[in-house]
Amino acid sequence: MSINIAKFGGTSVANIEAMRHCAQIVINNPATRVVVVSAAAGVTNYLVQLASEELTSDQKETILGKIETIEFAILTGLETPSPVSIKLNELLSLLRELAFHEEILHRPDLKDAILSLGERMSSLLFAELLCQMGCEAENFDARNVIKTDSEFGEAEPDIALIGEQAGKLMKPELSRCVLVTQGFIGSDCNDNTTTLGRGGSDYTAALLAEALNAATCEIWTDVIGVYTTDPRITDKARPLPELSFEEAAEMATFGAKVLHPATMVPAVRKNIRVFVGSSREPNKGGTWISRDCEHEPHYRAITRRKDQVLVTVKTPNMLFASGFLQEVFSILANQHLSVDLVTTSEIAVSLTIDNPSNSVRSTLNQETIGRLKEISEVTVEQGYDLITVVGNNMHSAAGVSSKIFAAVKDFNLRLICYGANPHNISFLVKEKDSTNVVKALHQDLFEQEQMPSHSVGFKRHQHANHG
Ligand code: ADP
Ligand code: ASP
Ligand code: MG
Repeated sequence: MSINIAKFGGTSVANIEAMRHCAQIVINNPATRVVVVSAAAGVTNYLVQLASEELTSDQKETILGKIETIEFAILTGLETPSPVSIKLNELLSLLRELAFHEEILHRPDLKDAILSLGERMSSLLFAELLCQMGCEAENFDARNVIKTDSEFGEAEPDIALIGEQAGKLMKPELSRCVLVTQGFIGSDCNDNTTTLGRGGSDYTAALLAEALNAATCEIWTDVIGVYTTDPRITDKARPLPELSFEEAAEMATFGAKVLHPATMVPAVRKNIRVFVGSSREPNKGGTWISRDCEHEPHYRAITRRKDQVLVTVKTPNMLFASGFLQEVFSILANQHLSVDLVTTSEIAVSLTIDNPSNSVRSTLNQETIGRLKEISEVTVEQGYDLITVVGNNMHSAAGVSSKIFAAVKDFNLRLICYGANPHNISFLVKEKDSTNVVKALHQDLFEQEQMPSHSVGFKRHQHANHG
């Protein structure tokens, strides 16, 4: 049996009406045997506040009240709320206990425990809604399958163990019922609850698709597919009918929030087609992401990643010294910091680090800077955004980069990365310029001719390199 995994994001499960659209999508496709849900919109942000801010009891009560209002509104929207109300109240009691735990601000394991509750509540309610709409469904605890390391807040999944657990605990149930499980959460070898990083429900869906040999994985969200750029930046952005795995992976890595950065990794490993569409408007179609996509345009999309930090390390010792870069990178690697752009000169190296303010853990800290200062002079500059143009054969086709640089000629580009990869050209710009940079690029790359997105390019199959 070829199965489908359907994931519904926060706005898709924000209230009972939104949930009904999702339930109908599940019911309409008998191949959907596993449903992955996010926390209702806003809930995870409230949970992050409870887990990481110094709050008075009154402030905690206010936040708990807001979460309860969201969850109870969904509960009372069910035809017969009673079967799940006891379980929901148990989860809300646990939430209160954790919120008032005296070590909540200092124990990452407690943070992840509290963060997991949004998904645990929404999956409970969504499973009940599906049952009430006539679909055989059960709530399933993802923590029994999504086994991870103990890096709380950004846990790394154990692919082999996930495959084993999914085969043992999920597969045998799929002919009997639809399993409704939580995105974003997992557990370590001691059964402590862990989380995969913000936006991680997409990743959960892809991991389960891989583990269960699914043919497709659907990401249902609040937009009708992946767009040429974030539709919140410009209303000229338009949905793309298709994307290749490589393009989607680049877009996710470089800031297209519609997909968690790691989503494509399991899909690529198992050649699983991924669909992105709107749960409110499923009839409008969406984006299909696959290995064999029809066309490979030079320019496919523009992404933006905010909150980038530019670190420059400078030392005269770098002149002719081998091992300096290795030392710099090993300091960063020890802190699990990933570097995107690097430029070097004779005595200095500049690099960019992703430092998102809503991240569960703080990425660039004083300890790291201190260690870099032991070996070099260090400058840290904040307030940059990373802009990436995603496409194909960008480094080998004449004129591709000049069109991009012509579009942004009025802006100061701080750092440029070009040629390392055929699928992207990235540069760093001041935060205040970034919206205009994206708009200018979008205009020149996508708004000049009213042609379908695949018109600039060629068929992938004509390429000898692609099988
Ligand atoms: P969900 O809660 O369903 O996971 P997200 O908010 O995480 O939804 O992702 C959907 C949002 O991603 C959209 O509302 C849109 O603003 C943003 N986004 C950023 N880049 C893109 C893009 N290239 N295409 C579509 N949406 C994008
Ligand atoms: N609820 C989590 C978050 O808001 C995970 C997700 O929505 O994908 O980050
Ligand atoms: Mg998301």
